[in-house]
Amino acid sequence: MKKWALLAVFLCAWAANAQPVMQYRLAYTTADAGVMQVRIGLPAPRPAPLALVMPRNYPGGYELVLYDSFVEDVRAFSDQDKPVAVKRAPDGPRWLLGATGEQVARVEYSVDVVRMEKELLSAEEASKVRPRYVGLLGYSVFAYIDGLEEAKIALRVEGPPDWPVFSTIAPAIPAPLHTVSASAANYYALADSEILMGPDLQLRQFDGTIALVMAVYSEGEEDLAMEGQLARTALDRVQRYFGDVPFSTYTVQLELLKPLPGHDYDFSQEHLTSGTFSLSTERAMTTRTTQQQREMTLVNYAHHMAHSWIPKRAYGEGYIPFLWEMPPIIDTIWFNEGFGRYAAIAALADGMPAQEARDFRQRQFDFLRSILDDAPGFIRLMPMVVLSREASFLYAKDFRIGMNTFARGALMAAEIDDRTRRQSQDKKDLRDALRALVLRTQKEQRPFKIEELAPLFQQATGVDVAEILQRWLRPPGH
Ligand SMILES: [Zn+2]
Repeated sequence: MKKWALLAVFLCAWAANAQPVMQYRLAYTTADAGVMQVRIGLPAPRPAPLALVMPRNYPGGYELVLYDSFVEDVRAFSDQDKPVAVKRAPDGPRWLLGATGEQVARVEYSVDVVRMEKELLSAEEASKVRPRYVGLLGYSVFAYIDGLEEAKIALRVEGPPDWPVFSTIAPAIPAPLHTVSASAANYYALADSEILMGPDLQLRQFDGTIALVMAVYSEGEEDLAMEGQLARTALDRVQRYFGDVPFSTYTVQLELLKPLPGHDYDFSQEHLTSGTFSLSTERAMTTRTTQQQREMTLVNYAHHMAHSWIPKRAYGEGYIPFLWEMPPIIDTIWFNEGFGRYAAIAALADGMPAQEARDFRQRQFDFLRSILDDAPGFIRLMPMVVLSREASFLYAKDFRIGMNTFARGALMAAEIDDRTRRQSQDKKDLRDALRALVLRTQKEQRPFKIEELAPLFQQATGVDVAEILQRWLRPPGH
């Protein structure tokens, strides 16, 4: 090796090392009674005061969730390992660490997950602790230091000594016992991942273009092979629809739970490379499962897998960069949920024989149209963008808002798909437009503006769909 080449290698290594890395550690023992211990080490001590921030919502949650209320015992330490003062900010999910003139090197706190599950009534929003299982949503346990959200993260998880420990950012089967290490590109990637552990966690891999890991905790009867096959089919078809391979493994975190009184188990939640499916045991796949239930499960998987592209890799303003402290107002939830839903329907239909595909699409569209027909007058009169802003907080809390948002978006997508096929003599369709949008978003790393959609779609397909977008976006009756 020449001298200059050696120097280049040295400089590269130095640059990589120089990149600030946050050290996150999460520890849990069965003696902790459902309380997680978290430690965040800064890349280097920083001048105080700093702010520790806990999320109050998460991408795709469209709701205020007070995760800060489960954080306890926040402590911060100087570079000399001396405690510095910690003050809870009077409003918002923040703690102020240290005083002017001091340095802060690390912060520690605990999270009461048992209380979290008790107080958050939507199953998909809460982490879970059972005697032989723990399922943690990143954003429900990990806070960040204000201003350091983009720093790289080294994560270390320590579970009970003989428990397998699994992280969706470094999915490995068999899962290592007691401890796992992983790295995340930034806080978003850590927050949008899950940590699963315990002897009752079943892990099974189903190979394919994107490997599928079924990570299942079940409190009832469950046919893991059947469930995995459905998820495998959904992932294959969605991946074929978008055409690229943006990640190598997708994890289905499936929790089949004996319902707690007053809790609901109706929603699933997408993440960057995984999905959380916290359902009641009656939704488990068994030999008695009807064809109708199987189709529902297939559609639910495909929908949340499609979210790994839309909106995770193609999004409107407000989705990324993300506002963690309060639900951001988003004007394009009809795109996230409607186009995402339509893409999943089209992807699934593509893999079916012609007649089956027609019937399947018909059933889906009848359902979408019935949502619009059954909507109360005041929702029917809401312009699309206003509906989306309401959905920014109320998507699931008042599911009339959520359903009308996705139904309008999906029916708009269907119309764009039809016109594109017709005018291009079946040479192009909506998938070409969506693939172009994903590509552009990833290349430019910025959200699209609504008015950019029609020109971008036309560039990709040669078909002008501006009128369709304008019509759906216009206040009804205008
Ligand atoms: Zn969705």
